[in-house]
Amino acid sequence: MKPRLSFQTRVLIGGLAVVLCTLLFVAVLLERSLGERILSQVQGGLEKQLTLAVDLVSDRWRPSQGLDASENLAEDLGRKLGLRITLITPQGLVVGDSEVGRADLERLENHARRPEVVAAMTSGQGSSIRYSSTLGVDLLYVAGLVGDPSRPGLVVRLALPLSELNRTLTGVRRLVLGAMLLGVLLSVGVAFFMARGISRPLKDLTRTAQIIASGDLSPRVRRYPRHEVGDLGRAFDRMADTLQQKIEDITAAHDRQDGILSAMMEGVMLVDPEGRILLVNQALMRLLDLTRDPVGLTSSEMVRNPDLQDAVGAVLAGQPYQSREIRTLGSNPRHLEVHVARLAGDGPQAGGAVAVFHDISERKRVEKMRRDFVANVSHELRTPLTAIRGSAETLLDGALESPHYAKHFVEMIERHTQRLQRLVEDLLDLARLESGQAPPKKDAVDAAELADAVLATFSDLAAEKGLELTRSLPREGLKLWGDRRQLEQAVLNLMDNAIKYTQPGGKVGLSFRAGEGGSVIAVSDTGPGIDPQHLPRLFERFYRVDKDRSREMGGTGLGLAIVKHIVQAHGGSLEVDSQPGRGSEFRLIIPAA
Ligand code: ADP
Repeated sequence: MKPRLSFQTRVLIGGLAVVLCTLLFVAVLLERSLGERILSQVQGGLEKQLTLAVDLVSDRWRPSQGLDASENLAEDLGRKLGLRITLITPQGLVVGDSEVGRADLERLENHARRPEVVAAMTSGQGSSIRYSSTLGVDLLYVAGLVGDPSRPGLVVRLALPLSELNRTLTGVRRLVLGAMLLGVLLSVGVAFFMARGISRPLKDLTRTAQIIASGDLSPRVRRYPRHEVGDLGRAFDRMADTLQQKIEDITAAHDRQDGILSAMMEGVMLVDPEGRILLVNQALMRLLDLTRDPVGLTSSEMVRNPDLQDAVGAVLAGQPYQSREIRTLGSNPRHLEVHVARLAGDGPQAGGAVAVFHDISERKRVEKMRRDFVANVSHELRTPLTAIRGSAETLLDGALESPHYAKHFVEMIERHTQRLQRLVEDLLDLARLESGQAPPKKDAVDAAELADAVLATFSDLAAEKGLELTRSLPREGLKLWGDRRQLEQAVLNLMDNAIKYTQPGGKVGLSFRAGEGGSVIAVSDTGPGIDPQHLPRLFERFYRVDKDRSREMGGTGLGLAIVKHIVQAHGGSLEVDSQPGRGSEFRLIIPAA
């Protein structure tokens, strides 16, 4: 994998590479041209000195003079010029050399074949760079001829050790290298600062972008250097401002919508044109007993209900509106009214549907109760009416003639009329209690007085049936907080049942005591008792454990319903303890004042 280099490092490396390449190129060029230049300059200088030396030699040298004089001339000129000077005859014999002593002259090799000497002999002047076997160093030689090539007198040769030239070159090279190094350092510095000037704002920009990407929209770049990166930073900040504004707007709109949806009692479901759920509110989750968010599912995956599928399908297929009543299953079955409407417009949800669910379970329950009630009342009325009508017809058909039959049928008419009357009275009482038009007029009611009144009502009946009536009251007396008339009616109803359903020889008790939740009125009997399965519905209107027996006893099926309503109107509660064969106890708990 390639190493990840920062922008700054890249610029630095790039800058350095350019500078190094340029300097290398310059250095090579300089080295080449400088070497040649210096050599040609030195050679030029040497040639000028040679001309001078040739002039001096032609002035001071005579062919006739001996070796000693030539050697002296060479040494003198060499000293003055600061150079090695060699005097060579056209035959190649060295007659004088400023660096070689007189004694060694004869031992020197013949110089006629030396390239500079050959050139001087033919063209008057010559040069060569060679290793001098005499001195053991590289030398630059220039040679000039005294006289002309047709009559050559003497060859004068000057030599300059190249080591000097090399020293000059090395000096120049050092200078160039130093300048190069300085150049590199300077350019690295400049490149560093330039790269930092660009990379720093880029890093700021990256950091800011990362924070924004992580969800915090508040940071901005703010510092804008005066180049393209600055423009980028400014544009970035503007973009972040717009983004933040947009997101705030969207969030506010979303919060408003969320608030409305969660405050709604109605369930709401939104589906896209493909039938996938986009949104449901809390109310719908509750209405449908959903445990997990159904977003992304289809409505049939959310809840299996053909009517709902049908309505949603019809709207998605192009119908503008559909409504259905559906029943949900599960632990808490409900009746729901669903209105499904097509989403118009050209937004992303266009072609989808919105469904609103109203919980109409309570309405349905009340409707059913009303229907049942009307059916029950009609049924209850039909029996006595049929009996009265039958008796009247029988009387008209001739029974009236027979005093015995006439009495029997008139008594029957009277009995059923009483029953009708009881029924109508009970219905009226119930209607009054249910309507809330007769709220209890509460007052302190003396328990003993209430007990006396109730027992007085039933004493004859109980004696007739051979039942023992008992009463129990706290010695210190007891006051009940309630409506005297309503409380008496409730106790009368309970006592009526106890006496009605208890077989002769049994016992019926009425007791009052002060309990924890208020005053307790208990009516107990040693009657047949009630099977536990009937207890939950015992206080419903027209609910009877044994219908025939109840009718036979003249019951309307409304007594306990009336008791329940009276207790509720007093803010109290009602309890039953009963077991088949063991008698029953009904308790009214009336809260204290
Ligand atoms: P009803 O007019 O039929 O007595 P109620 O509402 O007073 O109507 O009582 C409802 C039913 O409860 C009765 O039909 C009866 O079956 C049962 N019931 C009420 N009180 C007693 C009781 N003390 N012992 C046994 N059954 C009772």
